[in-house]
Amino acid sequence: AVSDSEVTPFSVPSYACQRRSTLENYNAVLTDALSLLAENAELSDEDGRGVAFRRAAAVLKALPSAVTNMSQLTGLPCLGGHSLRVIKDILENGASSEVESTKESERFKALKVLTGIFGVGSKTADRWIREGIHNLQQLRDSGQTLNRAQQAGLEHYDHIKQPVSLAEAEAIRGIVGRAVASVSPESQIVLTGGFRRGKLTGHDVDFLITHPEEGSEVGLMPKLVSWLESRGLLLYQKTTRNSYLECSEGPGRPPSNIDRFERCLSIFKLSAEQTGSGVQSEEIAASPSAAETRWRAVRVDLVVSPISQFAFALLGWTGSKLFERELRRWAGHEKGMSLSSHALYDNKQGRYIRASTEEEIFVHLGLEFIPPTERNA
Ligand code: ATP
Ligand code: MN
Ligand code: MN
Repeated sequence: AVSDSEVTPFSVPSYACQRRSTLENYNAVLTDALSLLAENAELSDEDGRGVAFRRAAAVLKALPSAVTNMSQLTGLPCLGGHSLRVIKDILENGASSEVESTKESERFKALKVLTGIFGVGSKTADRWIREGIHNLQQLRDSGQTLNRAQQAGLEHYDHIKQPVSLAEAEAIRGIVGRAVASVSPESQIVLTGGFRRGKLTGHDVDFLITHPEEGSEVGLMPKLVSWLESRGLLLYQKTTRNSYLECSEGPGRPPSNIDRFERCLSIFKLSAEQTGSGVQSEEIAASPSAAETRWRAVRVDLVVSPISQFAFALLGWTGSKLFERELRRWAGHEKGMSLSSHALYDNKQGRYIRASTEEEIFVHLGLEFIPPTERNA
């Protein structure tokens, strides 16, 4: 065993947005354990606990080597007593009893299955569990009233729970790109979310669309959706119109973290021919019908932003969720500014700060630029 005096403690800045977080890290066993506890807290509507576990996991993700001794963690930020107990348990016993019992708990398993249905959040899942519904069959048999999103989510559950591959994301990018080029040739489309951070799979595919001329993006989404619908490419879609102006965020009304862009939450029907490589073999194994139907359902998020807000929208929709949360916390606590996916507002000077690139936003926030692939906090 290494004596404490030989151990050099790690050093990590406090905010995740000050750190470079790549997809891989040296402490995956620990970060997976803390992420599972975070997920359990979030599914139980304990967001504060969820964030605490996410922050602790993110600190471990930033370490330059594997943790072997608790004393290496001395002085690190964001590691509360609960997270430290979990880490100690794993270092000493190879596993955390709390994590193992959470994983095995009927409630956690039921929450995962039910919230895995598109359109079902933790509150709905919790209500169903209290009514004795723990799985999809019990839900189908229960006669619960489902909204349109939940009906589509239940119908396409097996497809949607399969991770989306990069090849599938690129195929969808091609389709949406053709749709945009057809309805508004000058508009630009960018892949955001996890794929922009370099992830090779995702739970959905996220796109941000804008037009180089301010105002010309108005009306784009309905045209885009009609183009896709008329070609049978959408299994489900719900468009929410832009409500930024009517909820104006002027002085005294700091930006909220829920953005108000025109957006479309959808389920695409992606055929094997469109993916090029064909339906994934794992998918055929998981869902035999995929071999016959030769298509799969994929969750796709489309967001339209005016060009003046594009840099903020791009930064806000690239994630990770914790990185975004930390950027807003940094802006508020360290800079007296309010950051949203629409704007940056200087609370002291009482004015909005313009930016046309992500780099400019980092400069205004007094942060070193972190490229998308290093925002995997
Ligand atoms: P995955 O690969 O699992 O899809 P992801 O990082 O792409 O991971 P998403 O849930 O697709 O996760 O979210 C992508 C980004 O969009 C995140 O940064 C998130 O903050 C942002 N986002 C998602 N929903 C909203 C929303 N309703 N309002 C504002 N931003 C949102
Ligand atoms: Mn995503
Ligand atoms: Mn998304």
